[in-house]
Amino acid sequence: MSRWWPKRYGQRDDRPGWDEYFLQLAQVAARRSTCRRRQVGAVLVRDKRILATGYNGAPMGLPHCLEIGCLRDELGIPSGKRHEICRGNHAEANAIASCALHGIGSRGATLYCSHQPCILCTKLLINAGVVRVVYLHGYPDEFSRETLAAANIEVVKFPGGEQAADEDDRPAEVGPADSLPRVHGAQTDGGGG
Ligand SMILES: [Zn+2]
Ligand SMILES: [Zn+2]
Repeated sequence: MSRWWPKRYGQRDDRPGWDEYFLQLAQVAARRSTCRRRQVGAVLVRDKRILATGYNGAPMGLPHCLEIGCLRDELGIPSGKRHEICRGNHAEANAIASCALHGIGSRGATLYCSHQPCILCTKLLINAGVVRVVYLHGYPDEFSRETLAAANIEVVKFPGGEQAADEDDRPAEVGPADSLPRVHGAQTDGGGG
């Protein structure tokens, strides 16, 4: 037995696994959102290192929806529709833009997101080289789920999130890490690529 590891200590049972850890960071990022409707946060990770973070809101320097209102909100547009009439960028798009701004390669990254990515972000994520998506809450965008599957991106819906209206309990799109234990301190390694 090594002198540096003289005995085995018990695991602390409140220590999160990597997926839970980065997903919680994404939820912290979501708190910065300026969307009037849904607060979304995203963290791009590779090799257990944070590459970039993002939350949904207006482009840098422009007035945001909390300040001057949002047409989608005023018109009562349903969730998942008519993204183009809101000035806000989505969290995932902002994380990718942050990589571009700072010259950080995103190939091989895992995206941690408070919500399932929409189809617009999914298309960006594919071309940004993201290989794995871990999210908590569902989002009503079946086309996105199909596209992620078609692009062979591993998708993990972390247990405990809300179900999207159109999700109807289909685990088909969920990747192999679907069996991640919910219990605190359980080994949920695999985040970070
Ligand atoms: Zn808006
Ligand atoms: Zn999106």
